[in-house]
Amino acid sequence: MNVELLGLLACPQCRGGLVLLPRQDGLLCQACAVVYPVREDIPVMLIEEAVPLEKWTGSLPEKA
Ligand SMILES: [Zn+2]
Repeated sequence: MNVELLGLLACPQCRGGLVLLPRQDGLLCQACAVVYPVREDIPVMLIEEAVPLEKWTGSLPEKA
């Protein structure tokens, strides 16, 4: 994924920064404890599409 694009992305709920997951399959908001999925390299930045961290089955950062 485009890292410059990532720098422009913010959580739609809290406007905080996001962490790109190791497999680039999602963007984690640590403040909200949700993951915004990345589908075909397109981040889905919709609150209704956010996956609660405990239900996320994709990759996770080493220090969550
Ligand atoms: Zn957030």
